[in-house]
Amino acid sequence: MNQYKINELFETIQGEGSYTGQPSIFIRLQGCPVGCAWCDTKQTWEIEPSDEVSQNMMLAKVKETSQWAVMTVEQILVLVKEKGFQAKHIVITGGEPCMVDLMPLCQAFELQGYSTQVETSGTFDIRVSDQCWVTVSPKINMRGGYPILKSAMIRANEIKHPVATEQHVDDLKKLLTEHGIKNIPIYLQPISQKNRATELAIATCIANNWRLSVQVHKFLGIE
Ligand code: SF4
Repeated sequence: MNQYKINELFETIQGEGSYTGQPSIFIRLQGCPVGCAWCDTKQTWEIEPSDEVSQNMMLAKVKETSQWAVMTVEQILVLVKEKGFQAKHIVITGGEPCMVDLMPLCQAFELQGYSTQVETSGTFDIRVSDQCWVTVSPKINMRGGYPILKSAMIRANEIKHPVATEQHVDDLKKLLTEHGIKNIPIYLQPISQKNRATELAIATCIANNWRLSVQVHKFLGIE
């Protein structure tokens, strides 16, 4: 596959996980069936043919919408140059980007000297290059009914888990134990920056020697 359905493409600072602070080019793909109640990108869920727009219309969006454009890998590379983006790190996100084969996209950027990262819920096979940094944010027992795949947990370079309740922490511990996951960074991310979620995340990180991810971009008011 050499083309992708793109909801957004922009340059910013990565605000989450190990790459926090890293200038990055975000490629947000359309489509996600996972159904997290607190999802902050619900506009990416459905792939409606009537929402397909031109590349220029997709890029001209001034607010979050469900509109998407098809772009080939070559068109994406050209666009990144034309826009004058300076970042050398690519973040492929969604939606659920692992619904599609991301290998061509990773390889094309890596050949040009970029590093790549994918952010996924862990519910689909992860088809990326060996060098790609994989952030699995396991979405456990969500409405869509997709289980977290063992292959995704094993491929993860880091786990980033949204938390608001003790149940979320317990679910994560169970998942890590089930799949024997050790020795990679575990980040807790308070859902919606709520005080109670943040307090729980801090206490749990200290108790388990995990790390806190606070979505820096939201505090900075950037995308
Ligand atoms: S997996 Fe991500 S994009 Fe999909 S519903 Fe959950 S938070 Fe939203």
